[in-house]
Order: sequence, then C-alpha cells, then structure tokens
Amino acid sequence: MSNAMEIPPPGDFPLDPPGGFGRMAPRLPGPEARMADYDVREALCEIGRRCWQRQFVAANDGNFSFRLDEDTILATPTRISKGFMSPDDLVLLDMEGRLKGGRRESTSEIRLHLNAYLHRPDIRSVVHVHPPHATAFACTGPLLPCGVLEEFELYLGQVPIVPYEPTGTWEFARGLDPWIETHDAFLLANHGAVTFGLDPFDAYYKMEVLDHACRTLLLARPLGDWRRLTPEQMQALLARKTAHGMNDARMGLPAERLLDEAVAPRPARDTQPRFARDLVPASESVIISDEPKLSSPPPARLDGSDSRASGA
Ligand SMILES: [Zn+2]
Repeated sequence: MSNAMEIPPPGDFPLDPPGGFGRMAPRLPGPEARMADYDVREALCEIGRRCWQRQFVAANDGNFSFRLDEDTILATPTRISKGFMSPDDLVLLDMEGRLKGGRRESTSEIRLHLNAYLHRPDIRSVVHVHPPHATAFACTGPLLPCGVLEEFELYLGQVPIVPYEPTGTWEFARGLDPWIETHDAFLLANHGAVTFGLDPFDAYYKMEVLDHACRTLLLARPLGDWRRLTPEQMQALLARKTAHGMNDARMGLPAERLLDEAVAPRPARDTQPRFARDLVPASESVIISDEPKLSSPPPARLDGSDSRASGA
C-alpha cells in the first residue's frame, strides 16, 4: 500500500482496505497495552490519504500523531504530502520532541501535539489539518451556532476558536489551554483545525464531522436563519450524551445557556511543556536513528530507498 499508484483518484473515497481497520475501532485499553506500531503506521498513512482526498490539506500541510506509550509518540514528518506517505516515512519522538527513530524530520507544529498529550492523558491521537469549510469559520470569526445540527451536537458540541499565534510556536500550541481539558475539537484562527481522539481514526472522524458541519452551515446560511433546537431539546440531547458516557462542557448549565455560542474558558493545569529544541542548540537537537526502538514488524516499504529524497 506504499505505492502511489494504488491511491484512488480524488473523489473516490476508499472503504477500509482489505483486512480492514476494524481492529482500530475498539477503544484502546490503555497506554500500558501498546498498540502494534505497524498498525498505527498504516492507520496514520490511511488518514493522510483521506485528508488529501477530502482536500483537508494542500501540498505538505497537516500533521497527525499517536501516543504509543508514556514517552513515545509516532508522528507524521515535515515536508511530505500527507496523501502519499509510506509507513516508514513516520517518525518516533519522545515527549520533549526529540527524534527517537525514523529517517525524516519532525514538524515544528509537533508542539501542538506535545502540549495536548501533556494536558490530556485520556487521549492518544491528535489530527491537525486545514479543512476549507472549518477554516473558513476560523478565518472570519463567527463561532459555530449551537443547537442547529443534532448529530454534530451529539458528537462534538461547542468548538472554541483559538486566537491566532504564529504556527509552530509554544504560544500557538498553548493557545488551546483555556479549553484543552474540556474540548476535543478546536478552530485555529487564520489557520485550520485540530481534533483529539482515543485513536487515530477517532481523532480523524471528529475532523470529518467538524468540516462536514461547517460545510452544511455555509450551505444553509444563505437560505435563512438557523432553526435551532429549543433549550429543552438541548437539555434532552445532553442527557443522551451523558447516558452514552460522552462529555460535554455544557453539562450542568441552566437550559437557557445551552444555546450560547460563547465557549467558557477554563484554566488548564499550569504545566510547563518542554521541547528539546528549546533547550539545546539546534544543531544538536535532532537525533537521527534508523532503528526504531520498537519490537514491531518492519514497515511495509523495504526497498531501501531514502524517503527523504522525495520530500518537498
Ligand atoms: Zn497547520
């Protein structure tokens, strides 16, 4: 599956590949039961293809990661189209961003992922892309209206817009902090969107749901005003979320506030993230290793080619 010739043309969304990603669907049992590295590599490449096919990314945009264990994350590298990655293009990093394995380099936006994992021990995957419909809202400023799309409310709910900061900086990564412990989807002002999940497909599906909702809202807006659920209907909807064990930051609010679009910030724990490149000279910050320290099956591409040569 590492061959670009096997990738369907845009618009032809593939179903799960032979053998399926059904093994990805169950909730992961916990950090101690580390998911097979090989499966996660395939999953991240598949998500890259889907993001490219749905035009969530252009050129080399976007990055995804999965936390393999408490000190190792598997992440997409910089300078590669996420639609055409092979499993051995991915990099292994520690929680301070040091490269532990892989032949490519990590992205500066990995700070966004590291900060998320630092504050959210309950999540294991982060997807960051620039989906056009969601980014249209992120560029213009209106918060997504509450109580308009039932399934969106069930799956995601309120989505904060994180104020603009230059990409790749800690200020950019920590912009999520006021909502990071209570929300799983964020619009990044003048930039894109980021979602958290229990596994790579959980985070990716949230991104699909977010952009689909934004597209629907953009299509609906010229037709008239939003027809919203009533506060009582919203209360019943949140009760269904509770019954299914799903969190929503609005739970416990009085009914009349459930249609508020403003997303109340909550201070995150004062945890100072660290990043190896902030601590040591740049020339010493990247440790290249061809030997991933995992006892997993080898990646699919074994032709010995230097995948870095194809990077932009
Ligand atoms: Zn970005």
